Amino acid sequence: MNQSALLNRRILLKSRPIGAPVAENFQIEEVAIPAVQEGQVKLKTLFLSLDPYMRGRMSDAPSYAEPVQVGSVMCGGTISRVEESKHPKFQSGDLVLSYSGWQSFEISDGKGVTKLDPKMSHPSLALGVLGMPGFTAYMGLLDIGQPKEGETVVVAAASGAVGSVVGQIAKLKGCRTVGIVGGPEKCRYVTEELGFDVCIDRRADLRTELAAACPKGIDVYFENVGGAVFEAVMPLLNVRARVPLCGLISHYNDTKLPEGPNRLPQLTRTILTKRIKIQGYIISEDYRNRFGEFFSQMSTWVNEGRIKSREDVVNGLDNAPQAFIGLLEGRNFGKLIVRVASN
Ligand code: NDP
Repeated sequence: MNQSALLNRRILLKSRPIGAPVAENFQIEEVAIPAVQEGQVKLKTLFLSLDPYMRGRMSDAPSYAEPVQVGSVMCGGTISRVEESKHPKFQSGDLVLSYSGWQSFEISDGKGVTKLDPKMSHPSLALGVLGMPGFTAYMGLLDIGQPKEGETVVVAAASGAVGSVVGQIAKLKGCRTVGIVGGPEKCRYVTEELGFDVCIDRRADLRTELAAACPKGIDVYFENVGGAVFEAVMPLLNVRARVPLCGLISHYNDTKLPEGPNRLPQLTRTILTKRIKIQGYIISEDYRNRFGEFFSQMSTWVNEGRIKSREDVVNGLDNAPQAFIGLLEGRNFGKLIVRVASN
């Protein structure tokens, strides 16, 4: 048996970042894989999902979820193959969705491990459009945003895992759909491939371009980033606009409040006078009972070619830290996935 089949390569949180994460916050090591005991399965990681929420887990600031402890394996959703099973629910060869984290193998007791269709032609979609990010887009837009035909929907981080799905659903619902992204290549993709009506580069004169793109104002703003993007959106929000507050990625590395005038009174006045609904949500906490409904509808749309998705696949577990650092700077183009092993 070759050595790599006996060792688990894994990436630990070595230290908590101050500001943007750096390579030194992570540590790569190899350890022996323990023998599988009764009631356990040995999972071999094929794909690891990298997601913005992991920045929150690297911090021990109070949050809705426990932080990763320093010295522990970084958390993360994975697609894995069952290599050995002493668990009644799983057999060797099963393809599963698990939460094994940043490592090549996991010995699991089966909790939170879900079997996938073994014939799934593209299993990594279960980490993207057919998984947590797609679910986040679907519930946030439809349950909180409640878009109506003819309304204008603006989507931040529109080429990414969540935003790309939000905009396409908004189009299916008959809305005028405006994306905001970082860079011309992403802009082209969002309009030409995904069918958004307009896309704006967030580094352009956002206020002016957004006003031109939304002549009837904004009815739904799907918030993924916060900061300068939200500031440009706010004056254009219509009376009774809805803002699903999904993410605030531009603030995840902040170490203090921004300089400058306090804009809180302006924000609260806008919310009051325009009767705007801003609602935060955490998909894993607030909608866990509705995954089935989402999955059935989204699988249909994907199979019919009505919802498209794009993956940014990075090869090799060792490249996960750099890829994750890049995600927080907008270097990914599509759902960021690490291919850890080929089968
Ligand atoms: P993406 O695939 O969209 O990748 C992140 C993107 O964010 C980058 O590509 C970049 O896009 C943009 N970005 C990065 N840094 C900045 C910045 N400083 N300012 C503005 N934009 C920036 O990620 P996801 O689709 O997985 O996640 C999108 C958002 O949804 C995140 O905020 C995430 O935390 C949130 N989320 C929330 C969930 C919930 O339950 N509430 C669940 C899942 C995700 P670009 O280059 O186009 O600007």
